[in-house]
Amino acid sequence: MDYEIVIVGAGPSGIFTALTLAELGIKDVLLIEQGKDLEHRRRSNPEDMLCGWGGAGAYSDGKLTLSTEVGGILGEFIEEGPLYQLLEETDRIYAAHGAPDRIFGETSYQLDILATRARLAGLELIPTRIRHIGTENCPAVLSGFHQALKNSVEIRTGVKVQGLLSEEGQIKGVSLSDGQTIQSRFVVVAPGRSGASWMKRQAESLRLKTTSSSVDIGVRVELPAVVLSQITDMSYESKLIHYSRTFDEKVRTFCMNPYGEVVAEENAGIITVNGHSYANKKSDNTNFAILVSSAFTEPFDDPIAYGHYIARLANLLGGGIIVQRLGDLLAGRRSTRDRISRCLTRPTYSRATPGDLSFVFPYRHLLSIIEMLEALEKLTPGVYSRNTLLYGVEVKFYSNRIEVSSEMETRIKNLFAIGDGAGISRGLLQASASGILAARAIAGRVKSNTIG
Ligand SMILES: Cc1cc2nc3c(=O)[nH]c(=O)nc-3n(C[C@H](O)[C@H](O)[C@H](O)COP(=O)(O)OP(=O)(O)OC[C@H]3O[C@@H](n4cnc5c(N)ncnc54)[C@H](O)[C@@H]3O)c2cc1C
Repeated sequence: MDYEIVIVGAGPSGIFTALTLAELGIKDVLLIEQGKDLEHRRRSNPEDMLCGWGGAGAYSDGKLTLSTEVGGILGEFIEEGPLYQLLEETDRIYAAHGAPDRIFGETSYQLDILATRARLAGLELIPTRIRHIGTENCPAVLSGFHQALKNSVEIRTGVKVQGLLSEEGQIKGVSLSDGQTIQSRFVVVAPGRSGASWMKRQAESLRLKTTSSSVDIGVRVELPAVVLSQITDMSYESKLIHYSRTFDEKVRTFCMNPYGEVVAEENAGIITVNGHSYANKKSDNTNFAILVSSAFTEPFDDPIAYGHYIARLANLLGGGIIVQRLGDLLAGRRSTRDRISRCLTRPTYSRATPGDLSFVFPYRHLLSIIEMLEALEKLTPGVYSRNTLLYGVEVKFYSNRIEVSSEMETRIKNLFAIGDGAGISRGLLQASASGILAARAIAGRVKSNTIG
């Protein structure tokens, strides 16, 4: 046996597996990451955006959502109380490695009033407590994790795990892209969304049971921060859900970035829009996504292909991201450079192509987005302004869900699957917590084996 445990992927879920194993005194652990070390990653390089030490967490907004309902499906395995405790424990580890002290969104009388006003506007407000690391502080926190691990875990970057080796229903190790084979008793796969198609292929070859993934499609909205400050000052990340009037489709806000910036993201040759905010640097604008979750009609069952198709269409028409003033969209005309230059909301992402999003979105998506903006206008006037900017498209692909036990073990003995890549999480805190669960189960088995 070369190692006791191999961890595949150094995103938050893989890192938290390693941290927990180290804390529990488990030795012979190898962590393999296909991307670069943190100090060699460059945000401007699309290859580095999601891969390397810290995974997608490195350039994330760093919002740790202290909610059992948001950011993953761990609630299906653990009762609400113990899950909340686990998330708080996970959060404390981030805080101990440099995440800022402040927690936003504590329950208050004002928040209750806001939730009531939201209901009157046809919106459900899901209040969430959030610790905001801030995109500029994420590398420092991740580097702290690296420091904590460097003497107890072997870390190899720049090496891709090619395959998972199993025999008679039990994991035996991994094969690497350089042709090397590594034998180990346990393997934890934590490949993230960037490794989701690799994970899908592994699941197929190991005959692991999976449930097909979903996709949410929408726009990133940008407006002057003052329009939403009443909400964002109280609850940093408000999740608002609306069922659209015409299609009765679930539409929700996602990833709100007060005083933040709109950014581009590239994955598998497709450019999509996203947003982030700094803990200490502020723009004049707030941005957030409006996402539509559609159930497709039979026999169609490939939501990911649908999402790619829409994103590609936007790239085809705009050469990347398209930006449009809401006023132009409603008037049935494209935005132009001249119109955007006169827009009272100054775009924080200047490289988007002014265009017409109605060429990109199917009618039901576009109408659902417009109806959501109308509902938001009732809660906070100014959202439905003709100067509101819409960037398209924002697409959230979710990984195929691998069937795992409450310890995160797959049907292959001693093979664990965690984080976003296994369809278990959709955010930093639940991804990290899933790593803790896998590590604790493994440590228990290693220790009982040693004693026995
Ligand atoms: C722009 C952006 C902003 C975000 N903001 C937030 C936020 O504010 N709050 C929040 O909760 N979440 C946020 N997220 C989501 C969050 O980053 C992810 O949920 C989290 O990083 C998932 O962790 P993970 O470990 O499962 O996967 P990842 O972080 O994706 O890490 C997986 C790692 O595995 C590696 N890998 C994959 N396959 C292999 C292989 N075969 N061999 C070796 N290595 C492999 C990858 O290179 C990658 O480094 C954001 C994401 C993005 C992109």
